[in-house]
Amino acid sequence: MEPVIVLVGRPNVGKSTLFNYLTRSRDALVADYPGLTRDRQYGRGKVGSRPYIVVDTGGLGDDPEGVALGMQSQAMRALDEADVVLFLVDARAGLTAADEELATVLRRRGTPLYLVVNKVDGMNRAMAGAEFHRLGLGEPHMIAASQGTHVAPFIEQVLTDL
Ligand code: GDP
Ligand code: MG
Repeated sequence: MEPVIVLVGRPNVGKSTLFNYLTRSRDALVADYPGLTRDRQYGRGKVGSRPYIVVDTGGLGDDPEGVALGMQSQAMRALDEADVVLFLVDARAGLTAADEELATVLRRRGTPLYLVVNKVDGMNRAMAGAEFHRLGLGEPHMIAASQGTHVAPFIEQVLTDL
């Protein structure tokens, strides 16, 4: 089966935008994946000759009671299905308390994880990434999901590293 890439991050960081970009070429929502639920969206995509399944965890962090309770949500269970997690943050908003809370939880998990700084369009990439080093999740990867900037080579790297 294809590797499963799960997109997480607080609301509005660009998860659905990235999901749409990553599934655009085949535009096939997955209907036959084991454990499929309505809380999250599954899609198939391909970079080069490598296929993957990508999961958009829409509900995560939308919970008014905060990330901690949200962690028990259905959406959060998507992490258990992940071969790799992409943790998205927003270069324009900068580092937020919700990002830090999520990072704390994600750091404890063994799943391979990449820190993805989205919305770097029109920004200096090095500057945009700098403050996110503090999350302690390794090198930030800068992208602009709405234009697909830097996305394909990054995903190819992620799949190669698996
Ligand atoms: P989600 O809540 O994490 O799924 O975020 P969305 O994908 O719905 O995006 C939230 C907002 O950010 C929308 O208005 C998007 O158009 C915008 N957005 C997403 N990606 C980018 C990007 O790369 N650059 C810019 N400037 N805006 C973006
Ligand atoms: Mg969304």
